[in-house]
Amino acid sequence: MSRKDSGEKKARLDKGSIKKLRGVFRFMMPYKGIFTLGLICLFFSSTILLALPKLIGTLMDTAQGIVTIPWLPDLTSVGFALIAVLFLQSLFSFARVYLFAKVNENAIADLRGALYQKFMSLPMSFYDRNRSGELFSRITSDVSVLQDTFSTTLAELFRQLATLVFGVVILFMENPKLTFFMMLTFPVLIIFAIIFGKFIRKLSKGTQDALAKANVIVEETIQSIGTVKTFANEDFEVNRYNSNLSGVVNIALKAATYKGTFISFIIFVLMGGIIGVLWYGTYMVSQGEITIGDLTSFVLYTMFIGGSIGGLGDIYGNLQKAVGATDRVEEILAAESEHEIDKENIPRLEGNITFKDVRFSYPTRKEIEVLKGVNLHISKGEKVALVGKSGGGKSTMAHLLQRFYEIEGGDLLIDDKSAKDYNLIGFRKHVGVVPQEVLLFGGSIEENIRYGNPEATKEMIIEAAKKANALEFINSFPEGFETLVGERGVKLSGGQRQRIAIARAILKDPAILILDEATSALDIESEKLVQDALETLMEGRTSLIIAHRLSTIRNAHKIAVLDNGVISEIGKHDELMEKEDGAYNKLIQLQEF
Ligand code: ADP
Repeated sequence: MSRKDSGEKKARLDKGSIKKLRGVFRFMMPYKGIFTLGLICLFFSSTILLALPKLIGTLMDTAQGIVTIPWLPDLTSVGFALIAVLFLQSLFSFARVYLFAKVNENAIADLRGALYQKFMSLPMSFYDRNRSGELFSRITSDVSVLQDTFSTTLAELFRQLATLVFGVVILFMENPKLTFFMMLTFPVLIIFAIIFGKFIRKLSKGTQDALAKANVIVEETIQSIGTVKTFANEDFEVNRYNSNLSGVVNIALKAATYKGTFISFIIFVLMGGIIGVLWYGTYMVSQGEITIGDLTSFVLYTMFIGGSIGGLGDIYGNLQKAVGATDRVEEILAAESEHEIDKENIPRLEGNITFKDVRFSYPTRKEIEVLKGVNLHISKGEKVALVGKSGGGKSTMAHLLQRFYEIEGGDLLIDDKSAKDYNLIGFRKHVGVVPQEVLLFGGSIEENIRYGNPEATKEMIIEAAKKANALEFINSFPEGFETLVGERGVKLSGGQRQRIAIARAILKDPAILILDEATSALDIESEKLVQDALETLMEGRTSLIIAHRLSTIRNAHKIAVLDNGVISEIGKHDELMEKEDGAYNKLIQLQEF
């Protein structure tokens, strides 16, 4: 029973693998015309090559005065025929290499593009679940594994199969007895290829996984190199990375052991076959059954066929590797995007916000309910300061307002319509954020501000910078708006980065604003500039401010206190302070936000 079961299971697995491969091969479909042309060239280049052993045999026999091909009566004509065959073969080989490269490069670029587009459209919950380093390696190492699979491996598969089939047919026609002798080696080779292919596939997937894990360490530590240095954990990280690398080496070496055994065995069997053929063949020559030329071309054909069987083993291994990479790539491509592809422009929103009994827990931490029935109404143009203990769910409310996650219970209404009923991309265009930690992309200050609205003109950018109190410091740089920021550019202070973010938000011109106040204090002058810029930004917009400063709280129309997953109090500073036992009063006393 168990044998039958495992047999069935294996068949299913293989079918599944082929299906998966087909999934990725769809990226080749747009180039099927060029691919077919490549296949035709490949067919000619490999079949023409099959004329060589015959001609070499003829050359040998002609030297001994035996004419085998009437229209090639002497050594010169056979020699020229050989050169002509080689020349033609080279032409077709060039064409096939070029055509397949064209298919390969285009299909891989399309696949990379599709993967990246998918990354951009995946929901936040996906990024909570997956480590960025691992995702990064899908688009780098996994795609590289697939790189050659698309055409080279496929083309080689066809080429080797053609050589094998045509070679065997020619041999049978030439000398059935010797061919039968040679073919005795085939079953041994095939069984071996299947067994080893399975092991090699498993181990190469293991190598890829281990490498992806090691890559995560590099990415994470380089991203937060400051933390590594603060804790003087350089050695710890180096050791962690090295131990991961030794894991990679161990698995790769195990794979190499299997591969080495496989290859040496194949060489042994093939060479053994050739020696056997020579042995039996020379006996036939001595009996006058065949000529030296016949034997030479027979041995050469055997080598061709042997080469293609060895090649097929390699191709099998490559295809198995590709299945592993395909698994990981397909997993991403099949993940559910957060939004529909169509983008729809939504006319300007009024900006009335109502959190109605909103319940929420993060998809990765289902067991902890962060919001337990939040009720909060913010009217158009109002400024509401959100306060509460750290970890209480203030940022979570900001996430929900940007529709980063689906709400589980209750509803979020924007202008009396459920937020989820708006087109997602269209909706987000109406929500602006000035985050606590402003991240600038590598590029110029101008490009960074333009991120708020890619269509903005230079005048609009200057205007936004001016309103954001950023113009002065930008102009103080010798290169002004062209000054490079980000990783390799100038380092801007926290206050300067905040003002760039404000300029971005001004350009975006949203109806709804989320301000996440920086917790670390700016110097007094900088704070005033940022505060003024924020005031300008908030004019005529509905603002939800995650507040950390008393000055902000006092300027707000109302203060909402988020406590234990609900809005427990709402009102003006003085009103709330009157409640001696109130949550707000306690927060202020303890300076706990
Ligand atoms: P606050 O902004 O008030 O400091 P947050 O909204 O950041 O609080 O966090 C509320 C709770 O949700 C915390 O317990 C935090 O650990 C958890 N949390 C925040 N972000 C995520 C996330 N992406 N995945 C899972 N849990 C999260």
